[in-house]
Amino acid sequence: MILKKKAKAVDSSVAKLKSLNVALRYELAEAKDTLRAIQNGEVDALVVCGKDGEQIFTLKNADQPYRVFVENMNEGAATLSSDGIIYYCNKCFAETLKTPIEELIGSSIYIFISLEEAKKFKNILKSDTKHGSQNSFLFKDKCNKTVPLLISMSSSDINEKDSVSIIATNMTQQVQLKEYEKLAADLSEAVRARDEFISIASHELKTPLTSLLLQSQMQLKMIKSNDPKAFEESRIRNLSQQAALHVTKLNVLVDDMLDISRLKSGGLSIRKQSVDLYELTNKVIKNLSPQLVSAGCKKPYLSGDKTVGLWDPMRLEQVINNLLINAIKYGGPSQIAVHITSSKGWAQCSIIDKGKGIPKRDQLRIFERYERAISANEISGMGMGLYISQQLIQAHDGRIWVKSENGNGSTFYFEIPLGIA
Ligand code: ADP
Repeated sequence: MILKKKAKAVDSSVAKLKSLNVALRYELAEAKDTLRAIQNGEVDALVVCGKDGEQIFTLKNADQPYRVFVENMNEGAATLSSDGIIYYCNKCFAETLKTPIEELIGSSIYIFISLEEAKKFKNILKSDTKHGSQNSFLFKDKCNKTVPLLISMSSSDINEKDSVSIIATNMTQQVQLKEYEKLAADLSEAVRARDEFISIASHELKTPLTSLLLQSQMQLKMIKSNDPKAFEESRIRNLSQQAALHVTKLNVLVDDMLDISRLKSGGLSIRKQSVDLYELTNKVIKNLSPQLVSAGCKKPYLSGDKTVGLWDPMRLEQVINNLLINAIKYGGPSQIAVHITSSKGWAQCSIIDKGKGIPKRDQLRIFERYERAISANEISGMGMGLYISQQLIQAHDGRIWVKSENGNGSTFYFEIPLGIA
């Protein structure tokens, strides 16, 4: 009897367990179905029964605004795997790279970045981006056009996989703006330099012209008033010498300006012939005698021997003339010395003055066009002579340089190959 009862009780427990099992299986299937529906985006809302009654949680409503927002953003957005595969990107990202979204998804971001930039991108992608990072990169769109992008990165977790979300801001306009700003600054600097050049050039040209005009007006006045001094031989000689000096100065200035424009257009030619550098230097020194007298300088001391090479005599004369005129102008009345030497197929000329010298910081700059180490108010000049001299020496495959100590004179050197076997 007792056994029968026990057997009945066991039967009913098994039946209960069986029906519980069926109910649990049903609930599990339902939960799985709900999860699948949520994952597939088929669920709009969930009704949850709690102790305060039923509550509705809408899924679509919460997610949709973000999706719409990201899709329509004016900035590119993408999600990448940790090795750069594009999982997702928005319309703007695709437009920036001029590539359809379908083509972008699944491809590597690195096909749009230059090799050099890719290295930097990889390093940042692999580093800790949890707290976000912002860097500029040069991307290449599908048409191979460079697109500067400012990339903000932060790591995220999708289906337990490491991934990185990026926001790409196209900086093309900002870069163009910067380029335009630089261009505008360069242009206004060029206009300023041109205006300064015109003002210095007019001053330099006007000074000898004004002196010539004043001297001839004075002479005319004296002749008109029958002043016998107007016809004195010493006065006429002096006037003629002055006039020759002014005209020479004007001639040199105009020649320099023409040379600068020839150098710019590549139209400066070198006509080589056999020349004795020592002889040529001697001739230049003789021709400078009026300038030496006017500056109160002694005749430069010339040392060396006959040094023959294949050079353009007119152009070498121009260089030596420039360097000697500078030594007279900036060297004060001190004794100028010129040495001509030659060794191992090269000729060297050095021009030494004991003037105020050139500060170290200016010693390279003065060979540039229109560069000077002294203000035009102190000693006038246009900064063309050394630039032209350097170009002429370089056209002879030579080099020109200066050694100087501030306050202790300057030595200008040039050396040129003899050009004869
Ligand atoms: P410019 O004499 O017309 O200014 P240059 O090109 O011949 O033009 O010279 C450039 C600058 O180099 C000069 O303005 C001057 O500052 C400096 N310079 C040239 N030669 C000498 C020198 N012998 N001693 C000191 N400064 C010199």
